Amino acid sequence: MYRSHTCGELRISDVTKEVTLAGWVQTVRKFGAITFVDLRDRYGITQLLFGEELNAQLDAQPLGREFVIQATGKVSERSNKNANIATGEIELAVQSFKILNKSAIPPFTIQDDTDGGDDLRMKYRFLDLRRNAVKKNLELRYAVNRSARNYLHENHFMDIETPFLIKSTPEGARDFVVPSRMNPGQFYALPQSPQTFKQLLMVSGYDRYYQIVKCFRDEDLRADRQPEFTQIDCEMAFVEQEDILNMFESLIKRIFKDVKNIDYTEQVTRMTWEDAMWQYGNDKPDIRFGMQIANLKSAFLKGGKIQATGELINGAGFGVFDNAETVLAIAAPGCSEYTRKQTDELTEWVKRPQIGMQGLVYIKCNADGTYKSSVDKFYTEDKLKAIADAAGARAGDLVLILAGREERTRKATSELRLEMGKRLGFRKEDEFKLLWVMDFPLFEYAEEENRWVARHHPFTSPKPDQIEVMINNNPLIENADKYLEHPYSNIKANAYDMVLNGNEIGGGSIRIYQRELQEKMFAALGMSEEEALHKFGFLLGAFEYGAPPHGGIAFGFDRLCSILGGSESIRDFIAFPKNNSGRDVMLDAPSSIDDKQFDELQIKLNLKG
Ligand code: ASP
Repeated sequence: MYRSHTCGELRISDVTKEVTLAGWVQTVRKFGAITFVDLRDRYGITQLLFGEELNAQLDAQPLGREFVIQATGKVSERSNKNANIATGEIELAVQSFKILNKSAIPPFTIQDDTDGGDDLRMKYRFLDLRRNAVKKNLELRYAVNRSARNYLHENHFMDIETPFLIKSTPEGARDFVVPSRMNPGQFYALPQSPQTFKQLLMVSGYDRYYQIVKCFRDEDLRADRQPEFTQIDCEMAFVEQEDILNMFESLIKRIFKDVKNIDYTEQVTRMTWEDAMWQYGNDKPDIRFGMQIANLKSAFLKGGKIQATGELINGAGFGVFDNAETVLAIAAPGCSEYTRKQTDELTEWVKRPQIGMQGLVYIKCNADGTYKSSVDKFYTEDKLKAIADAAGARAGDLVLILAGREERTRKATSELRLEMGKRLGFRKEDEFKLLWVMDFPLFEYAEEENRWVARHHPFTSPKPDQIEVMINNNPLIENADKYLEHPYSNIKANAYDMVLNGNEIGGGSIRIYQRELQEKMFAALGMSEEEALHKFGFLLGAFEYGAPPHGGIAFGFDRLCSILGGSESIRDFIAFPKNNSGRDVMLDAPSSIDDKQFDELQIKLNLKG
């Protein structure tokens, strides 16, 4: 027996017990004739006391950091108690010990505040994983996993594995490919998600499926994306959108309860995609705070109509507004007393390349009811008041206005809103706000290719009342400039995203389940009949054998964990993550392979450049 107890287990009630512990040496402190050692394992830290009688053995076999040792002795009460750790009232008076294995000096300290930089910690991730901070994250991840599994199991979902070596399933990214030795010149793709498999399982009658599963997408790694990531992937048959929304908001609420002990009893807010874009400037709004965007002027089509034509701001001779495609405003509460320095700093902030604006106009809504603005020259106080009112500003607020091209301005205003929300303390880490964003456009227009692409994926169904529009109209876009006038640009999808504190944590849709409509969808995306058959013949075929109505959703498991753990980085919640260049620096992967492997695969490298 290596140990009778763990290093996190012993309490004052265990005093006088004979026990054996095993673990890693965290610290060694020598005080004259006696030596203290903090012994660590996954469960905690216990202080070991080595008396004088062990000095000779300690001299002969000195202990170092991260040595693995076993110690037997008696639990005794500590004179100097440590209230910070669970075992802090006791120590182990060691009678005998044994070094089970030595350790080289670790390249960084195994502590919460380690001295190791990111790269070093990743290279020695097996040591980094010993740190409490990282362990806590993995424990949280496991708690989320268990909570999800329990909930889904209780609701009759079956965990069914689907293959990793498959044929491409487009979800908008590039595939990772794997050469096949037995089929020279042919390749598998790693799944971007189990999408088509879970739909086939619905056809097979497994009406509630789930999997906590790896997905692979060969994307350029924008901040905090991983080439392989984990989804809680779910699908249900005989459901409408409402059934899915209810089932899965309850899943997330259950996870909140199990993992964070939060009772999220309120109904999850629902918002159309159009409202999200219009009021918050993006499709995953953080609704922990208001500060909605006021559209002073916009080219953006809402319900097919231009909503704000600019009558409030046009014609005052201020060219920036007069000539802009879009003018948007937000009201920052309580900021009317910003100094010149502060408004200048905000102006610099919006001019940063990531935000890309030319400048920032402000109106100070003074507490005494007067108005002061950077464009006083052009607008009377009455006009300024009218604009501030439109932005929902009250006395004491600062109205911030951006102008420019539609898309960029909307994005910038959305960023500015988030930034101000952060600066004003409205984005609290311990406050959780869920939101369903619904009714996304079914199609997006890809300018470079002059064709439609699926906004979600090609298996998403249109809203039932818009199926006709899809079937009865030719997808061809004759005039690229006027794609917004094509009936397809107004078709809404039976799709929904779940948003948590401004992050998309899940997304799904009610699927197409009729062959004819699925074929029409492929055609709408510019796929020829042969191409559709070649890529998706199996699915089209399956739809001919009694496919039930179905729909589903997938949650980004890593992201969900990081938000619940109060961290921006999903890497912190993955045991062995890749870095920003998609490398595993511990394994040094990817790497080249042996000539023999190339031979077996009958592949010859011909690297360009
Ligand atoms: N497969 C989809 C995705 O990965 C999710 C879904 O539609 O269920 O985004």
